[in-house]
Amino acid sequence: MKAISASQAVSLYGEAKRKNYAFQQFLARSDRPDWQDLGKLLMVCASWLHLREWLETGDSKLVRANFCKKHLICRPCAVRRGGRNLAVYLAKAAQIEENNKNFVAGLLTLTVKNGEDLRERFNHLGDAWRTLSKHVSRVRKGGRGKSELAKIAGGVRAVEVTYGKGGWHPHFHAFVFLEDYIDQAKLSEEWQRVTGDSFIVGIQRVTGGVQGGMSEVFKYALKFSELKNEQLIHAFEVLGGRRLLNAWGCFYGVKEPDLDCDDDLDQAGEFRDFVARWSWENLAYHIDFKPFAKDK
Ligand SMILES: [Zn+2]
Repeated sequence: MKAISASQAVSLYGEAKRKNYAFQQFLARSDRPDWQDLGKLLMVCASWLHLREWLETGDSKLVRANFCKKHLICRPCAVRRGGRNLAVYLAKAAQIEENNKNFVAGLLTLTVKNGEDLRERFNHLGDAWRTLSKHVSRVRKGGRGKSELAKIAGGVRAVEVTYGKGGWHPHFHAFVFLEDYIDQAKLSEEWQRVTGDSFIVGIQRVTGGVQGGMSEVFKYALKFSELKNEQLIHAFEVLGGRRLLNAWGCFYGVKEPDLDCDDDLDQAGEFRDFVARWSWENLAYHIDFKPFAKDK
């Protein structure tokens, strides 16, 4: 994956901070002290970014920053987490493809019926997945029975939660490597049997390249623009601390990337360091250059 330039990073996080403002105000003005505290965390999040830019390539890395890690409700953290996960899983995918030329990249979606109780729906989705994946791992080990999902060599899946007609709609998006084509109708029947109430599934071949396919998985867990402030904080309270990203099979074992530091993006050559400091007055970062530094 091409590293982004320092100016792209500054504009990306700047945009995210500006968009956070209304929700921060909502939290700060609430009568709940814990919400007020969250509002303060969001306000301070990514208030400074120490960036390093290589002069020859224009690539950059984040040397250090202060992210609040509340990615469900904080846009800069959501942007950051999505980008970091994409980078580490793209590297893993390249490694897997190198050794398995026959694998086909696919996108898998599994949904459950909408409902008013987010916790119940989220648990229902997770329980269905666990039941099915136990069965799948038995099948892959040569046990009895069949499963369309046994054609998957491994994948990485993320929870996305939207709200629509009939209530909350948690669902999984997964990037998978297929050993054989999955029959969508059979998969749908299988999923219906496990969930009891949901048959909507999707499986498609990734056509626009691995990065494009994976971007679908690593978009934000909550769609900020589509949820009301009250819904956002409710989803945070229900899902905060729950595992929303999982990898299995050939994707298993990728280390969770550090949000405050790009520890894997060093390059040779001359670079310059600077610090971008956020100003709420101007709703923009101010750039504070440090003297040129020689490469180490
Ligand atoms: Zn944050």
